[in-house]
Amino acid sequence: MLVMKFGGTSMEDAQAIDRVASIVSSRLRQKPAVVVSAMARVTDQLLATARAAGAGDADEALKISRELRERHYHTAGELLGTGRFTEFHNQLESDFDALDELLRGIAAVGEVSPRTADLVAAKGELLSSKIATAAFSARGLQATLVDARDCIITDDTYTRAIPFFEDTNENLRSKVWPLVEDGRVPVLGGFIGSTRAGTTTTIGRGGSDFSAAILGAGLDAERIEIWTDVDGMMTTDPNLCPDAHRIKVLSFDEAAELAYFGAKVLHPATLLPAVQKNIPVYILNSRNPSCEGTRVTAQAPRCRNLFKAIAAKKRITIIDVAATRMLMAHGYLKSIFEAFDRHRVPVDVVSTSEVSVSLTVDSNSAIPALAADLAKLADVKYEGRKAIVCLIGESLRETAGVAARVFSVIPDVSIRMISQGASEINLTFVIDEDAVPDVIRRLHAAFFSDLDREVFD
Ligand code: ADP
Ligand code: ASP
Ligand code: MG
Repeated sequence: MLVMKFGGTSMEDAQAIDRVASIVSSRLRQKPAVVVSAMARVTDQLLATARAAGAGDADEALKISRELRERHYHTAGELLGTGRFTEFHNQLESDFDALDELLRGIAAVGEVSPRTADLVAAKGELLSSKIATAAFSARGLQATLVDARDCIITDDTYTRAIPFFEDTNENLRSKVWPLVEDGRVPVLGGFIGSTRAGTTTTIGRGGSDFSAAILGAGLDAERIEIWTDVDGMMTTDPNLCPDAHRIKVLSFDEAAELAYFGAKVLHPATLLPAVQKNIPVYILNSRNPSCEGTRVTAQAPRCRNLFKAIAAKKRITIIDVAATRMLMAHGYLKSIFEAFDRHRVPVDVVSTSEVSVSLTVDSNSAIPALAADLAKLADVKYEGRKAIVCLIGESLRETAGVAARVFSVIPDVSIRMISQGASEINLTFVIDEDAVPDVIRRLHAAFFSDLDREVFD
């Protein structure tokens, strides 16, 4: 069997969903299970409704909800035609009535908890999976809607809940596998799950990729296909650099680093379940389904190019922690990391000296409280509007002089932190956010003008 995941852009309107139905039809012999994201931009809009309601602005929340309602009705109407839509309309109507009810409730309280935000955000995938199932059925596919919340069981860390794999796998085997065996096409919404007590959760933005990998691993899929709006993993973000090239094949490690350091084409957690079962992952383009995309496998072939890709992660803050009085004190680093842990702020890049530590974190609202906590240990400064640039490639393991080659391309750029070696396959540094487009283009031109055609298109 295989798992096929279609992202928001592949679900953006009736035409796109129609393409999805044809792509799924073309794979029927391989027994697909389908995971879909919310229609493009819907999750952002749902979260905006929750925020507006939380701020007490029920009118604004209901206005956005009305736009969402119209878009979903319109899409379903186009996909299903009048007869079938009439039946289906009632279902959508009660979903949106329930959403409006929820938003009014939030506005009355004037506060939105992460738990309630998840309830709102989950609507996107609940709706898109319903519409996709109806559209598939209307096109002759034997599709069955499965509520992902009955399968993917998570803890209660709302907005970025962590799956319990044992419970989840058991559910997948008992609720999804029999459908696959029966020749039916199960359709699940990505991104959502529920706690053991049955409360709706979400597994982090961009999490539908992760849902697909969880499904693939739980069902021992032969492959996992991530269908998106670009031809595959590219040598860099095609939005920043239009002459980025498709990477035909890369290793799990390379893909994971690339995702972690900002290539949003793949969610960073996606590959873990696939790696554990050694299931190949393919990134494919739903607008260009005949393109062979990118294959992500345990072992990548040797590549003549030093790097496979460059990624950039923006909205980074550097936190400098300097402590003369604690010089060399035992347990100093531990107490610093404990503070990050207490505030649940994950750290990306670290560099230390005898008296000071610099760390990078995603810019977020927890930083002032964290800094106040750290100030009990040391002098703390923090500075936002930074970005992490990361060059990735297995060839780094056996190549000398990598840093010299990279920095000679951008001698005029001020580099705030450098790290190489943690994974042996990346060179990472921190610069001002504004410099990202120029730095990426220059590095891309320097390292990707002469390409190994076995690996790149
Ligand atoms: P989906 O809705 O299918 O989940 P996303 O928007 O999450 O799609 O991810 C696809 C986007 O990722 C592309 O449109 C592209 O702009 C961006 N992207 C960033 N870096 C890369 C890269 N190295 N290769 C491909 N796409 C990238
Ligand atoms: N719809 C969710 C989001 O926008 C999950 C996903 O698309 O992967 O974050
Ligand atoms: Mg995505």
